[in-house]
Amino acid sequence: MALSSDLLSILVCPACKGDLAYDASANTLTCAACRLRYKVVDDIPVMLVDEAEKF
Ligand SMILES: [Zn+2]
Repeated sequence: MALSSDLLSILVCPACKGDLAYDASANTLTCAACRLRYKVVDDIPVMLVDEAEKF
């Protein structure tokens, strides 16, 4: 199941409050400004900078 557009529209990067890019196939939310990739676990976005992956 993918994240709903309603949820995606309110999600922002916790570090910079910027928009996130959702990748449904990778199950990640990416902040291009911070170069951080947040995981989505069981359809719940893990919006923690400490848990995000740098790229
Ligand atoms: Zn950010």
